[in-house]
Amino acid sequence: MARYTDAVCRLCRREGMKLFLKGSKCFSDKCPIEKRNFAPGQHGKDRKAKVVGYGLQLREKQKAKRIYFTQEGQFRNYYEKALKWKGVTGEKLLQQLECRLDNVIYRMGFAQSRRQARQLVRHGHVAVDGRKVNIPSYQVSAGEEISIRESSKKLPVLELAKEFASHGTQPTWLEVDRDNYKGRVLNLPKREDIQLPVNEQLIVELYSK
Ligand code: SF4
Repeated sequence: MARYTDAVCRLCRREGMKLFLKGSKCFSDKCPIEKRNFAPGQHGKDRKAKVVGYGLQLREKQKAKRIYFTQEGQFRNYYEKALKWKGVTGEKLLQQLECRLDNVIYRMGFAQSRRQARQLVRHGHVAVDGRKVNIPSYQVSAGEEISIRESSKKLPVLELAKEFASHGTQPTWLEVDRDNYKGRVLNLPKREDIQLPVNEQLIVELYSK
C-alpha cells in the first residue's frame, strides 16, 4: 500500500492547524505551526482565500484522513460500511477510525503518536486477547483486552510514551493499566467520546455527491 513519507508537519501546515502527528514535538516550541502557520510551498503564504462549499468538505475529509494516517481507498471503505449500518453515518465513520488498533494503542498512551502506534503494531509488539495482531487497521470490539506483548515491555519508546501520556486525559471508553501496558475496550466510542476537530457531516456530504 502507498505510504506517506514526506515531512508530516507539512500536513498540519496544509490544514492550518495542529494535527498532533509527532508526539512531544507537537507540544514544544519546535512545532512549525507555532512559527509558520501558513500552507507549505512557494506560494503558501499568499493562499488566503476563504474556503467554502466543496473546498471545505474536501479539507474536512483530508484532515480526518491525515489524523488517522489512512489512505483514500481505505477511508472510502469506512464510509461505505458506515452507510450500510444503522445510525448516523458520520458517527459510524469516526467510530471505525477510532476503533483501529493503532489508534487504540495511541489512545491508551502506549505510543506518543498514531504513527508510532502503527509501528508498534506492525512490528508485532501488540496482542489482542493474548494473541499477536500485527494489522494496524484491525477493528477492536467491546470487551477485548489490548496489551503490549511480554517480550516487548522493555522497549524504551514505551517508557517515554507512558511519561508523555501521563499529562493527557484518558478516554472514557477505554480502561487502561499503564504500568502493565494493557487495557480493555469497555464500549465502542460515541461521537461525544471522540475528541476530534473534524466536522464529519461535511465528509458525508462530500462522499454522497
Ligand atoms: Fe503538526 Fe506536531 Fe508537526 Fe506541529 S510538530 S506541525 S502539531 S506534526
